[in-house]
Amino acid sequence: MNAEIIAVGSELLLGQIVNSNAKFISQQLADLGINVFFHTVVGDNPERLRSAIEIAEKRSNLIIFTGGLGPTKDDLTKETIARHLGKKLVMDQEALDSIELFFKKTQRVMTDNNRKQALVLEGSMILPNHHGMAPGMMTENDNCTYILLPGPPKEMEPMFLKFGIAALSKQVKTNEKIVSRVLRFFGIGEAALETEIVDLIEQQSNPTIAPLASDGECTLRLTAKHQDMQSAQLLLDEVESKINSRVGQFLYGYDHTTLVAELMEILKARKLTIAAAESLTGGLFQQELTSFPGVSSVYKGGIVCYTDEVKKNVLNVKSETIEKYGVVSQECAKELAENVAALIASDIGISFTGVAGPDELEGKPVGTVYIGISIKGKQTAVHMLELGGTREANRTRSVKYGCYYIIKQLKESQKA
Ligand code: ATP
Repeated sequence: MNAEIIAVGSELLLGQIVNSNAKFISQQLADLGINVFFHTVVGDNPERLRSAIEIAEKRSNLIIFTGGLGPTKDDLTKETIARHLGKKLVMDQEALDSIELFFKKTQRVMTDNNRKQALVLEGSMILPNHHGMAPGMMTENDNCTYILLPGPPKEMEPMFLKFGIAALSKQVKTNEKIVSRVLRFFGIGEAALETEIVDLIEQQSNPTIAPLASDGECTLRLTAKHQDMQSAQLLLDEVESKINSRVGQFLYGYDHTTLVAELMEILKARKLTIAAAESLTGGLFQQELTSFPGVSSVYKGGIVCYTDEVKKNVLNVKSETIEKYGVVSQECAKELAENVAALIASDIGISFTGVAGPDELEGKPVGTVYIGISIKGKQTAVHMLELGGTREANRTRSVKYGCYYIIKQLKESQKA
């Protein structure tokens, strides 16, 4: 099955909203093993929508529409499709009942045009809307399947997950199971990662290997198809082990995890506590950590030490250190990490000091960052980065590097 997603809505073309529906549906179809070859966006205009449908029919046999199922005049997706396919729109009693119930429950007055939302393509399969009013639908014509979904993501997503996927799985008529695994890498750029495994990517067929880079991280999505789930997992294991033999040192986790989540896990597992001294990141590291429930077993507290006075008076960084090396220095990062660990009596102290930008500091360019890591019983490590991104990117990336370095050091110390 080759799919095309047509998002309907002039607000998408005007740049008022992002086409996140296409992203969501594409991800779901990838998991079902359905190729998505085209994303189309078209305004609330019946002629242009019709022309988009005609183009899509020539190149795809599954067309998924989102938007334009509402009660107002500019919502014309199903009317246009009905005209195009020569199908009638008929009242769906169940949908009408649920719309009436919705109005009763919310004590709002139902207008005539709300009835329009219960009109469906004759003979179509209805996809109930448990989070709004307009039902979705699925119909077939000349070897092409059409799925109509509402625009609001909070209605569309649960409808697609609950009813769309089930309907499509029957349609795909395959016994093959599709299993995906996302490998998450940090500390290696997308280009370098791809260079290391280019032969594996070129040879790929089953599993497929899809690289993606975002926010300083890279991922590889491995997708295997097999009639038997266990064999699909084995196919993934095989290719993962080949990838790991080349770039395994940068792999930090799987699927939806994050560096902070991995750090939390490892600290919990080793029963270690952490404290932070944050200058450059102004508390961002601690904010990320404390977004996890149950963090108090590993996170004791920390200090945002933005000015020299706080670094000196609260965190006891020596005046000579600042005078001689500056606050953006290996020496300052080292003292901050060691002193915060001592002050807060934690097993690990981490410090962030650097130049977030936009102006340089102490003659050091924007993006110069020092991260100090003091682990009880080990020599303090200080890592220097030259990031050179925007102020925000430099701060968020520094937090990720901080997590990455601690994880790496703890894993290495376990091996030693
Ligand atoms: P409604 O009954 O709310 O009118 P609808 O099915 O007619 O639903 P639209 O009117 O096209 O959908 O869009 C309603 C809202 O849904 C938009 O204002 C927007 O917030 C969201 N939306 C629509 N299309 C998309 C899309 N492709 N991606 C993300 N959000 C979308």
